[in-house]
Amino acid sequence: LLGPDGVPAPTVFAEMSALATATGAVNLGQGFPDEDGPAEVLEAAVAAIRQGVNQYPPGRGTPDLRAAISEHQARWYGLDVDPDRQVLVTAGATEALAATLLALVEPGDEVITFEPFYDAYGALIRLAGGIHVTVPLTAPDFLPDEDTLRAAFSDRTRAVLVNTPHNPTGRVLPTEVLSTIVELAEQYDAVVVTDEVYEHLTFDVPHVPIATLPGAAGRTVTISSAGKTFSTTGWKIGWLTAPPALVDAITTVKQFLTFVNGAPFQPAVAAGLRLPDSVFAGIAAELSSKHDLLAAGLRAAGFEVMRPDGGYFVIADAAALGHDDARDFCLRLPELAGVVGVPVSAFVRPDHAAGYRSLVRFAFCKRRSVLEDAAARLAGLT
Ligand code: PMP
Ligand code: GLN
Repeated sequence: LLGPDGVPAPTVFAEMSALATATGAVNLGQGFPDEDGPAEVLEAAVAAIRQGVNQYPPGRGTPDLRAAISEHQARWYGLDVDPDRQVLVTAGATEALAATLLALVEPGDEVITFEPFYDAYGALIRLAGGIHVTVPLTAPDFLPDEDTLRAAFSDRTRAVLVNTPHNPTGRVLPTEVLSTIVELAEQYDAVVVTDEVYEHLTFDVPHVPIATLPGAAGRTVTISSAGKTFSTTGWKIGWLTAPPALVDAITTVKQFLTFVNGAPFQPAVAAGLRLPDSVFAGIAAELSSKHDLLAAGLRAAGFEVMRPDGGYFVIADAAALGHDDARDFCLRLPELAGVVGVPVSAFVRPDHAAGYRSLVRFAFCKRRSVLEDAAARLAGLT
């Protein structure tokens, strides 16, 4: 995980945000919103701080937030989750992923993910001593080949780590694919770990949690985060729901990673999770219209654009503009157009980069004026 000079290599997101800051380019690289989410959520955190909610919260999260998470799973997905035994509050989805993989994976165990994959997956599997097995999602559909998926499972498979809606492609995995994953996990006695941080940010396709499929709940760790839904990425409040024995094992790891986290943000996230359905629908609709704005700008600039089903990101092919190497293109894009994006090759292993070489990920979780500015700048590329 170290760079060639022996110091930690920055993630592609940190690298591209630094490039945007240094050049004054519009930052459509790192996925964070530049507008605040629901005022009720923000005000609840301020009130909690004023009321003195500033010391260590309980290890598994406050009872009220755990109850809100359980209510949320029942209300949206019909899932029955015991707030005392089946919920763990974590420092973002990242800690949920880290604690889960560290709890489950012994050196030499295999963990399957799709590829491209969110950068933390590869790093955490390595930190846990696991072997990372990947199944490609290829443009333009970004769907896995069923035979390749089946062939990825073996007697050494400890876990399959799913991400839907998917970062960076925006694909919501079809229910048939999720069913195949559950069937294979049962056959090979693997745990399903599912990163659903973009669960409320889907456009035309509904989000189906894999834990709702027959046979899945008993072997699934479902991970989410308040950062995405409520535009509070800096708060780092995430959570997981799982069968009690898995939650116990993961809690054992979490207590020595961060112990606890985010006391005053926990009641605020509980308030957010209890907001009416219409608020969640409004958040998704607003993001969908931002997608349309940026996608139109990218198309007008000459990119071939792939439509995401959800999330913060759209993938654009720079080959249509004569740029075959997206990493090189992204490093030059501030100078060429005053915009920053992230090469999709950053989400794949170096030896698998060929199929993704000219693809760029752009974030549209930004103010409309920022997206309009970016579109106008990109228009100068042709
Ligand atoms: N999983 C995915 C797929 C993500 O895109 C992100 C961050 N954008 C995370 C996990 C991390 O979430 P958190 O900030 O809650 O740790
Ligand atoms: N998840 C965000 C992204 O995909 C960034 C988070 C980070 O910088 N680690 O852009």
